[in-house]
Amino acid sequence: MKGTLAVVGLGPGSAELTTPAVSRALAEATDLVGYTTYLDRVPLAANGQRRHASDNRVEIERARHALTLAAEGNKVVIVSSGDPGVFAMAAAVFEALEGGPSAWRVLDIRIEPGVSAMLAAAAHAGAPLGGDFCAISLSDNLKAWATIVRRLEAAAYGDFVIALYNPASRARPHQLGDALAVLRGLKAHDTPVVFVRAAGTSDVTMRIERLGWADPAHADMRTLVLIGSSRTRVIKCGGAMRWVYTPRSERDMP
Ligand code: SAH
Repeated sequence: MKGTLAVVGLGPGSAELTTPAVSRALAEATDLVGYTTYLDRVPLAANGQRRHASDNRVEIERARHALTLAAEGNKVVIVSSGDPGVFAMAAAVFEALEGGPSAWRVLDIRIEPGVSAMLAAAAHAGAPLGGDFCAISLSDNLKAWATIVRRLEAAAYGDFVIALYNPASRARPHQLGDALAVLRGLKAHDTPVVFVRAAGTSDVTMRIERLGWADPAHADMRTLVLIGSSRTRVIKCGGAMRWVYTPRSERDMP
């Protein structure tokens, strides 16, 4: 049997935000590969499928393992949270494919998209991504901190709305505070900053702050941080800040 490899995105958390195409790939798989926390979100299939759980950091080895299982004729699915192409496993699979044996290139590989955390978080906040935006991961496991600072500066200069993935972890407690300090030097202090934790789940929480006093302690590994552009606005409901949106039109800009 010809092996297959699907790299799927489970969405941000709730089962309702997993696409039917992803659910089908999961149900049909003989082998599931992924980070333990994400595999735990996959309902057990009736067909006795094997689960290969691994640590979050070993992306390339995990990709090679999945390609090897597929080359043996299995129906393999690699799971990511959110979308598999956004700071996740799909790129690792292609990196492994490019550096691997030519036999891997005849495998039937497909990428099944998912709802990325940025989109679920934005939906909870309103419409902060209504104008041009960019996404930056604050993790410096795979790139230098100086690169991150340069991109934050460029994003501020371009007046993009900025979605920050991986804003904090136990190994990186200072990252978000340092990033906010960079942005405070370049953007208005009343720029809206939104912290959305566990977006797309029933545990979702949100804080709307302003760049000048936003407290990085509100972010953890399950938080997506959205920094507004100069256009981003906050609507109050009953005295409290509730909705954040960025108007589509920038026509009146100089
Ligand atoms: N592939 C994933 C992102 C992986 S990076 C996606 O497309 O969403 C992991 C980071 O994503 C986390 O540190 C956090 O910043 C963000 N994230 C993942 N799930 C989230 C959720 N439900 N709510 C808020 N942020 C989330």
